[in-house]
Amino acid sequence: MLRFGTINRIVIALFCLLLITNYWLAVPVYLYGIIAFIWFTLTVFGSFFIQWNYHLTSHHKNKKIEENKVAITFDDGPHPEFTPQVLELLEKYNAKATFFCIGKEIKEHQAIVSTILEKGHTIGNHTYSHTRNFGFLSTEKVKQELEQTNALVKAIFNKSMRLYRPAFGVTNPRIKQAVQDTNLTSIGWSVRSLDTTKRSKNMVVRRITKNLKKGDIILLHDTSAKSVAVLEQLLLFLQQKKMQSIPVNELLDIVAYE
Ligand SMILES: [Zn+2]
Repeated sequence: MLRFGTINRIVIALFCLLLITNYWLAVPVYLYGIIAFIWFTLTVFGSFFIQWNYHLTSHHKNKKIEENKVAITFDDGPHPEFTPQVLELLEKYNAKATFFCIGKEIKEHQAIVSTILEKGHTIGNHTYSHTRNFGFLSTEKVKQELEQTNALVKAIFNKSMRLYRPAFGVTNPRIKQAVQDTNLTSIGWSVRSLDTTKRSKNMVVRRITKNLKKGDIILLHDTSAKSVAVLEQLLLFLQQKKMQSIPVNELLDIVAYE
């Protein structure tokens, strides 16, 4: 896949080549513009499409897994109303999941996080504030967000989290640096449910189950009644297909805590 560093080197090399060529032949200015435009477009798309691994390498699936297993992941909780419903459903269908929690929500709903852990699910870092400006924060600010959530979980639950789910799936060089400095592992997804959009429950379920394969990581949110309804349909589907949901660290065979 394309990488930010590689693209930068190619663009610099092309600019140098054009400047050298310009010594003998007049190079039209628009050629520089076209190269700059391609660089800009790739960099913007690379920031939003986490699967490109353009800025930061994330785990998106386990292609090599032999067992019929997937990992359901939930972002943006814990939610006082919907996370307990999610936990009940997971228990009913004997499934395990991963919850990427927002620090300020952990602080508010500690008992729910305790239950998540008691039930054998995994938790990961999903920033402290989940601010809409996350993609524009400085490296220091991103680090603060990640460290604050990790420190909170360490203080309350005595766990040093190692997994990070990028807020809004956004990555850039500053987020990459902060993730590296805090020794976190970035977890993406291979199946984006789009459960927070206006799509109906049935459309979301279809979108998830259409091409679901062993080793997939599914992105859901434990923040709405629709997502809870989607989860029940998904768990029924997995049961029919004899597929099992396990924590993402087990699917990827990596550690969730230090
Ligand atoms: Zn989020």
